[in-house]
Amino acid sequence: MCGIFGIADHAEAADLAYLGLFALQHRGQESAGIVTSHEGGLLSHAGMGLVAEVFNRQALACLPGRTAVGHVRYSTTGASHIKNAQPLTFNCSHGPVAIAHNGNLTNALEVRGRLERQGAIFQSSTDSEAIVHLLARSSGSIEEVLVEALKTLEGSYCLLLLTPGKLIAARDPHGFRPLVLGRLNGSYVVASETTALNLVKAETVREIEPGEVVVISAGTVRSLKPFKTPEPARCVFEHVYFARPDSKVFGRNVQSVRRELGRALAREMAGVEADMVVPVPDSGVPAALGFSDVSGIPFEMALVRSHYVSRTFIRPTQELREVAAQLKLAPVPEALSGRRIVLVDDSIVRGTTSRKITRSLRDAGAKEIHMAISSPPITAPCYYGIDTPRAGELIANRRSLSEIKKYLDVDSIHYLSREAMLAAAGGTGFCSACFTGRYPTPTGDYEKASRTGG
Ligand code: 5GP
Ligand code: SF4
Ligand code: MG
Repeated sequence: MCGIFGIADHAEAADLAYLGLFALQHRGQESAGIVTSHEGGLLSHAGMGLVAEVFNRQALACLPGRTAVGHVRYSTTGASHIKNAQPLTFNCSHGPVAIAHNGNLTNALEVRGRLERQGAIFQSSTDSEAIVHLLARSSGSIEEVLVEALKTLEGSYCLLLLTPGKLIAARDPHGFRPLVLGRLNGSYVVASETTALNLVKAETVREIEPGEVVVISAGTVRSLKPFKTPEPARCVFEHVYFARPDSKVFGRNVQSVRRELGRALAREMAGVEADMVVPVPDSGVPAALGFSDVSGIPFEMALVRSHYVSRTFIRPTQELREVAAQLKLAPVPEALSGRRIVLVDDSIVRGTTSRKITRSLRDAGAKEIHMAISSPPITAPCYYGIDTPRAGELIANRRSLSEIKKYLDVDSIHYLSREAMLAAAGGTGFCSACFTGRYPTPTGDYEKASRTGG
């Protein structure tokens, strides 16, 4: 998954892009990059790691220019390598162009194969590079060329394109990933989530619509609608887990949607008897609050999350693995001992983390654990940018509800119904393929893999 940020015509473009990327860091922690346009050319700085590791004062000082695009990446396709860090920059008949992509194309391999047979040489292993080659091949204005390229792509994309004169934003006709337009005095800002607009003190103008292309140049905004029939399939998992709670995504505040998911969960579990509602922090907190609202069972932070366990943490030895699991989430024995708890989390993917958590709650003395999940069972992989594993690794794909209950060693387990989840998120126009296996686009590159269960 990724986060993208763009700002046009501002004296501190790179600094604001840096802040914007900080706000979007939850969308990708593997690499970060910013490209600015300056004196007819493009300047770029990107690297592996967190925004704070990739950029310092000096790096930002080397990015003058009034327009910038930035990107944070978590790899879904393509290996974790500096070559795959974005924004990608290239020179073509249209001059220098930078591109930042959030999403995942489902026909990138097919497009890539076709282009390679025609002589294109690929530099990276990302699906985003296929877009670059499509752009480089056609002539016309950059936005005309982009529109032609978009028509050959399937899957999900939110794109930012930067040329020395233009900042262009595009969202796929299904609108899988969020993208918003904002305004900061005379400057336009585009970002994956409103939290980034809020941070730089830009006001949110509107969502960029599914299938819309927005061209920002010389202080004006032009909107193109090249797709005849956009079919919204916005990712419901953005609301369930991925987006930041302070963002407004697809027109609704994420925190309030999550709280409503928890309320709906409590209604579906009416009659459950427990002494307290405990969230798995951080992602389970709003749903647990909602559960407590409706059930009247007191909310208790009986699991404490450490914010200092970094990805670079090395597990000391095999014997200390269990200890390491508790480093991130520690139970509060005094709160848990002899108590019956409703444990609320947003989702279960592999089930491995959940199992460690329930075990540590038991060890801390919990008497009963009723697991409450604020989304349905994830039974199918996501091909649109969320990094869920292959079907075979998804616990709900290979185990029945009673097997999951046994595996997690809980007294009961309940997943929210799909109907209630969609109702809380806003009703219709959502993708929920990871819960149903019904994908809103052809799955091209992945069809063979899914047929073989890979
Ligand atoms: P599991 O028990 O499946 O190992 O882990 C469940 C936890 O994973 C939940 O707390 C949920 O918030 C979190 N989760 C759900 N989707 C994702 C994801 O795409 N990436 C990561 N890192 N965590 C996820
Ligand atoms: Fe979102 Fe699931 Fe659809 Fe992927 S498959 S876009 S995670 S709803
Ligand atoms: Mg979580």
